[in-house]
Amino acid sequence: MIQEITLNSGVKVKIPTTFEYAKCRGCKASDIIWGITEKGKAIPVRFDDHEGWICHFEDCPKANEFRKEKKG
Ligand SMILES: [Zn+2]
Repeated sequence: MIQEITLNSGVKVKIPTTFEYAKCRGCKASDIIWGITEKGKAIPVRFDDHEGWICHFEDCPKANEFRKEKKG
Protein backbone atom coordinates (compact mmCIF):
# COMPACT_ATOMS: atom_id res chain seq x y z
CA MET A 1 0.00 0.00 0.00
CA ILE A 2 1.11 3.51 -0.82
CA GLN A 3 0.19 6.74 0.90
CA GLU A 4 0.69 10.22 -0.43
CA ILE A 5 2.17 12.90 1.80
CA THR A 6 2.83 16.56 1.10
CA LEU A 7 6.12 18.08 2.12
CA ASN A 8 6.27 21.52 3.72
CA SER A 9 7.58 22.73 0.36
CA GLY A 10 4.34 21.59 -1.33
CA VAL A 11 5.92 18.63 -3.11
CA LYS A 12 3.80 15.49 -3.12
CA VAL A 13 5.60 12.29 -2.29
CA LYS A 14 4.43 8.71 -2.21
CA ILE A 15 5.65 6.51 0.60
CA PRO A 16 4.75 2.94 1.48
CA THR A 17 2.29 2.58 4.36
CA THR A 18 4.61 0.03 5.87
CA PHE A 19 8.20 1.13 5.72
CA GLU A 20 11.50 0.68 7.44
CA TYR A 21 13.38 3.69 8.63
CA ALA A 22 16.64 4.24 6.85
CA LYS A 23 19.76 5.90 8.13
CA CYS A 24 21.24 8.88 6.38
CA ARG A 25 24.74 8.22 5.12
CA GLY A 26 25.62 11.88 5.54
CA CYS A 27 24.45 12.70 9.07
CA LYS A 28 23.23 10.75 12.07
CA ALA A 29 19.54 10.89 11.18
CA SER A 30 17.99 7.44 11.49
CA ASP A 31 14.35 8.30 10.82
CA ILE A 32 14.56 8.65 7.06
CA ILE A 33 11.83 7.28 4.84
CA TRP A 34 12.46 6.89 1.12
CA GLY A 35 9.64 8.20 -1.03
CA ILE A 36 8.96 8.78 -4.69
CA THR A 37 7.99 12.18 -6.07
CA GLU A 38 5.41 12.71 -8.80
CA LYS A 39 8.32 12.84 -11.23
CA GLY A 40 9.42 9.38 -10.17
CA LYS A 41 12.48 10.54 -8.30
CA ALA A 42 13.48 8.83 -5.06
CA ILE A 43 13.98 11.26 -2.20
CA PRO A 44 14.59 10.84 1.51
CA VAL A 45 11.95 12.45 3.72
CA ARG A 46 11.42 12.66 7.44
CA PHE A 47 8.75 14.00 9.76
CA ASP A 48 9.59 16.97 11.91
CA ASP A 49 7.30 17.85 14.81
CA HIS A 50 7.46 21.54 13.98
CA GLU A 51 7.82 21.62 10.22
CA GLY A 52 5.90 18.52 9.18
CA TRP A 53 7.21 16.42 6.32
CA ILE A 54 10.47 17.69 4.99
CA CYS A 55 12.86 16.55 2.31
CA HIS A 56 16.04 15.41 3.95
CA PHE A 57 18.08 16.83 1.08
CA GLU A 58 17.10 20.23 2.47
CA ASP A 59 17.26 19.21 6.11
CA CYS A 60 20.55 17.35 6.08
CA PRO A 61 23.68 19.17 7.25
CA LYS A 62 25.60 17.06 4.74
CA ALA A 63 23.32 17.80 1.79
CA ASN A 64 26.25 18.96 -0.32
CA GLU A 65 27.65 15.48 -0.21
CA PHE A 66 24.45 14.05 -1.66
CA ARG A 67 24.72 16.42 -4.59
CA LYS A 68 28.27 15.31 -5.21
CA GLU A 69 27.21 11.69 -5.06
CA LYS A 70 24.49 12.24 -7.61
CA LYS A 71 26.97 13.33 -10.28
CA GLY A 72 29.36 10.46 -9.76
ZN1 LIG B 1 21.40 13.56 6.63
